[in-house]
Amino acid sequence: MNVLQAQTLAEQLQGLSDSPELDVELLLCHVLQRSRTFLFTRADYQLSDSECARFTALLERRKLGEPVAHLTGTRGFWTLDLEVNPSTLIPRPDTETLVEKALELIPATPARVLDLGTGTGAIALSLAQERPAWQVVAVDCVPDAAELAERNRCRLNIRNAEVLLGSWFEPVNGRFEMIVSNPPYIDPQDPHLLQGDVRFEPLSALTADDQGLADIRTIASQARNYLQSEGVLLFEHGYDQAQAVQAILRSLGYDRIDSAQDLGGNDRITWAIWTQTPDTGA
Ligand code: GLN
Repeated sequence: MNVLQAQTLAEQLQGLSDSPELDVELLLCHVLQRSRTFLFTRADYQLSDSECARFTALLERRKLGEPVAHLTGTRGFWTLDLEVNPSTLIPRPDTETLVEKALELIPATPARVLDLGTGTGAIALSLAQERPAWQVVAVDCVPDAAELAERNRCRLNIRNAEVLLGSWFEPVNGRFEMIVSNPPYIDPQDPHLLQGDVRFEPLSALTADDQGLADIRTIASQARNYLQSEGVLLFEHGYDQAQAVQAILRSLGYDRIDSAQDLGGNDRITWAIWTQTPDTGA
């Protein structure tokens, strides 16, 4: 089997995946340890017996629904290649909207930034890499996820970020210029949990009580004790939660509340400013 023939096997994923051709390309790149450019320029490359066996085994697992990111162990996010495993969420392109907004909301000058529920470290590590003057603290309460984020940090050699294990604010001290989070926000009853990649991701990273709003409410309430005056709180949330998240922030006393859409045109992020912390000059 050559590369071109392997690519035609994408037809076996029709109806089982939203992106059969891309899936097969990523699996081939993984098995061959080559870039996608190689696939196009060397379509005649003959797979060895071992490469062939590994590729067809991964294709079979993909047919059963396993996410490509779990099969290859990596996912590209922002400019980073992140190690991924079943202990946490697979980074989504939607979350890049949050990274983009976070980079806009506060200046590139020295600042403390906190990422709650970091998972692979996708948000924290992207921000730390883009803003060398920021000190980014990444927190996750799942030991395997915190270890994964720390491995990603080390491998990418990002020194202005640290990963801490604990529940939300439990392991942190002091105040931050910005707090960001992509917390669990799916209603436990949402039928979409039975479809696609989410079936292979931990519910601890996906679902929250109170129609998916419980963790957002907890974080928003406690964040008031951890934000500097004029500090920013920024959430990712479900496509239909912007109004509810705005109402929570308003009721907690935040100002300048606003939302923005992801690339798919869905309301996806909401942020607000905390203006009430007395400025101690510290
Ligand atoms: N956006 C993800 C999904 O809908 C969920 C992410 C999350 O719960 N934080 O699959």
